[in-house]
Amino acid sequence: MLSQVVQNALNDQINYELTSSYAYLSMSAYCELQNFRGCAKWLKIQSEEEYTHGMKLYNFMLARNCKVELREIGKQPTDYGSIVGVFEKALEQETSVTRRIEELYELAFKERAFAELVQLQWFITEQVEEERTARDVVAKFQMVKDDPSAMLDLDRELGSRTPGADEGDAAAE
Ligand code: MG
Repeated sequence: MLSQVVQNALNDQINYELTSSYAYLSMSAYCELQNFRGCAKWLKIQSEEEYTHGMKLYNFMLARNCKVELREIGKQPTDYGSIVGVFEKALEQETSVTRRIEELYELAFKERAFAELVQLQWFITEQVEEERTARDVVAKFQMVKDDPSAMLDLDRELGSRTPGADEGDAAAE
């Protein structure tokens, strides 16, 4: 049986992923109201991805015969100051998720929770990608910030995002 301390930490991680989903949704709403519909679409897809991350752990907990505890999700900001501010916040969020995944991995290692270590490896790889993507978007917005037509191009580029094929099956696992 999985130790209580690892179960607690996994339930915490479900909460972080779902909170992250909620945060991206709020960012999406902000962008939509600023008429950056491409950014809004990108962020909504990101929100859906975070939901699948939460569900991956949710399904994993149940497969391990553990109790899922859904915790409180806090109120989200409604104003991010600017479009680049949204993505700076997103990057900050991703680096904090990475830190939490690493702490969880360390705990699972100490507790000799081998199946959990294997499951968490997926999240470690995923976070490398998530951070890189957020960092790229921030860098692009910082580059174009005083050029409205370049901003619109970037918005269009982000709007071409489609839900990732590798994410689609996560919630169903
Ligand atoms: Mg995630």
